[in-house]
Amino acid sequence: MKRAARAHLRLGALEHNLGRVREAAPGRRVMAVIKAEAYGHGLLRVAHVLAPLADGFAVSCMDEAEALRGAGFRLPLLVMQGFKNDRELRQAAREDITVVVHDESQLRLLETTPLSSPLQVWLKLDTGMGRLGFSATRAAALHGGLQRCAQVVQPPVWMTHLACADEPERPENAAQLNRFEAATQGLSGLRSLANSASILALPRSHGDWVRPGIMLYGASPLADRDPARHGLEPVMHLQAPLVAIQDRSLGDTVGYGATFQCPRPTRVGVVAIGYADGYPRHVPNGTPVLVGASRAPLIGRVSMDMITVDLTDHPQAAVGDPVTLWGEGLPVDEIAAAAETISYDLLCAVADRVQVTTQ
Ligand code: PLP
Repeated sequence: MKRAARAHLRLGALEHNLGRVREAAPGRRVMAVIKAEAYGHGLLRVAHVLAPLADGFAVSCMDEAEALRGAGFRLPLLVMQGFKNDRELRQAAREDITVVVHDESQLRLLETTPLSSPLQVWLKLDTGMGRLGFSATRAAALHGGLQRCAQVVQPPVWMTHLACADEPERPENAAQLNRFEAATQGLSGLRSLANSASILALPRSHGDWVRPGIMLYGASPLADRDPARHGLEPVMHLQAPLVAIQDRSLGDTVGYGATFQCPRPTRVGVVAIGYADGYPRHVPNGTPVLVGASRAPLIGRVSMDMITVDLTDHPQAAVGDPVTLWGEGLPVDEIAAAAETISYDLLCAVADRVQVTTQ
């Protein structure tokens, strides 16, 4: 059952944003990150647009890589959490899917599972993220071990992930880069370190393969939350119609908990989108929406299927008019800041019941 709310996707913006990756990191190979349904934009839909432009696709798990191979995509695929068991390992080798190896248990499976063809491996070093990866001090030993493994395509790609790239001036970034460079010095194999923030702000991290995610979708990867400053264009435009307009008196309250009291006679617009559609419940009074090209403030609490906005300064607004929750003129980054979260969270959370249209 689809709602009147719709996520309108401008697919040309994906192409434009990939072009920004190439400008910012010239000459590097681009592993476009399309995990989590391409950050809520649709895995296969985005893959079709980016396949002619990217050098590979990164996803999180084997099922996503399977879906891409099943749909006929032949370009390199990287599974960033790697294989979980021998079945997935054999499947990766069979389907020419590259896997990130980050844990001892995977090395043991690699040694003991006969494979139909050699496996492409990216070896992940934990240089300070404290999440996935081998200690950087083990790089040379791992390299030696893999060289003895006939089941692995030689040499592996070395990768790491930066914990603070969205704040490029933080000293943790240089410390991670130093650790990675020292650990892999003299070892054969290409390098991959950069996510979107590092692509834009840390050229030293560019290596051989860059791994852009959020910037492809037109949100800012940096703490400034200003995508236009980085030449990025939003892909998703989330819209819903006005389904009612009510005139309220001074002192009337609006919505659950009566948290908003009209400070003047107020024209209240009811918009058909709520937290069950993925609009964040915790945005405060005053969070902007776009009515036409101008901003109106949200008032009262976000409900499951509705929000309420103050249309007093928009006398021309009528029932049926579309309201933009984020997109052109209102970056998702701004709504994410109001909800005390990040754009990734909002984009990934758009619900299935929201219609998707494309252009
Ligand atoms: N590389 C790795 C290992 C990741 O986990 C992610 C995203 O979570 C990315 C690259 C892409 O990051 P971003 O979306 O910030 O560009």
